Amino acid sequence: MRERGSEPEKGQGGQGGQRELEREVLGTGRCTGCGACVNICPYQASYRDRTVTLHACDLSQGRCWAVCPRTPADLQALRQRFGGADLTPELGPFRGLYLTRAADEGIRRRSQHGGTVSALVALALREGWIDAAVLAGKGEGLLPRPVTVRDPEAVAGLAGSRFVVSPTIAEFNRTLGSDATRIGVVATPCQALALAKMRTLSVTDPDRDMAKLGLVVGLFCGWALDWPKLTALLGGKTGLAAITGMDIPPSRYHTLEVYTPAGTLPVSLDEVTPCVREACRSCDDMTAEFSDLSVGSARLPEGWQEARSWNQVIVRTERGLDLLETACSRGVLEFRDVPEGNLERLKAASMGKKRAAAEAAGKTAAAPAPAARQGGRS
Ligand SMILES: Cc1cc2nc3c(=O)[nH]c(=O)nc-3n(C[C@H](O)[C@H](O)[C@H](O)COP(=O)(O)OP(=O)(O)OC[C@H]3O[C@@H](n4cnc5c(N)ncnc54)[C@H](O)[C@@H]3O)c2cc1C
Repeated sequence: MRERGSEPEKGQGGQGGQRELEREVLGTGRCTGCGACVNICPYQASYRDRTVTLHACDLSQGRCWAVCPRTPADLQALRQRFGGADLTPELGPFRGLYLTRAADEGIRRRSQHGGTVSALVALALREGWIDAAVLAGKGEGLLPRPVTVRDPEAVAGLAGSRFVVSPTIAEFNRTLGSDATRIGVVATPCQALALAKMRTLSVTDPDRDMAKLGLVVGLFCGWALDWPKLTALLGGKTGLAAITGMDIPPSRYHTLEVYTPAGTLPVSLDEVTPCVREACRSCDDMTAEFSDLSVGSARLPEGWQEARSWNQVIVRTERGLDLLETACSRGVLEFRDVPEGNLERLKAASMGKKRAAAEAAGKTAAAPAPAARQGGRS
């Protein structure tokens, strides 16, 4: 089947089609389940936490291959194109590190940590920066459900982290073909990379105008969990339907916290680590480097109980900075000083993931080049 506008640009991993995708990604456990290849072609679909092929395609080059975050690409060139002068070896494009939380207590209560992501997305919708936001709500049996929202009031209802991959980019692809004119996406690192690759494709299809991508809010991500393995593990401990949320506190706790109406169930990471999705073991991006700004949990001297209601935010692009400054001036976010050493700890953690990924890929991580500018109000 020939896709409309399916000619990828040379030099961005455009040398394959569905056959190569099957052989090198889908069939080897390297698929992240991000959904980038779904809804650009009727032959790929998302099923539970998997991407599946419904029908064979004999195109030698296809967008499915070109946009996949696990197919080869000149990542350094992509980073240069994305981050320009603000590129750092540890964190990618970097204009500053901030500690924030939603000023609205109602948002904070429903959110994973400080509610920064939900507050920023709602603000972007309210201010007309975007007219649609692609998020990941709660689906059935611990599966996330990607959803497009247009009402800022609906954003907080989709707050919280789902630790199984969401086919968010499949939903973005669907929304790209709708009447939405500026789309925001909340994305894990692999999803943000897929969007960055999509931006490099030549646009010949008016229904797929990537200029509509108005905002990418990245999530820090250590790994996602394999849905069948996670449900087998937790199903042996509690009723899956009773699980209201989960979190992973700092590594010294060595625990996945599972929330139920009866209380918090701590599960040792010794049991959880075998459930990590295979594709995540070779991912080298902890902070969603291809985003306008990236958000994760905070670290504070007062300890985790206080830190868990704040976020660390990396601002990467002009747009990200504008959004954070607007959130500050509108009183949508509260700010506090970033404790000394937080930036260095974040860089060390990020490099740890890069090294682990390089080892998993059977090579040693290249020594980082000297850091570029690390400005901003950190
Ligand atoms: C799989 C996964 C692994 C993570 N690992 C880490 C980590 O190692 N370290 C760290 O500091 N932070 C990690 N995070 C991020 C962290 O859990 C919070 O999302 C982040 O701190 C923002 O908090 P918040 O209160 O601002 O988010 P909220 O305001 O609660 O908003 C969270 C947003 O994330 C979206 N979302 C939820 N699940 C997914 C998903 N699976 N895929 C895409 N979007 C989703 C929701 O739609 C919502 O818009 C991870 C998140 C995920 C989804």
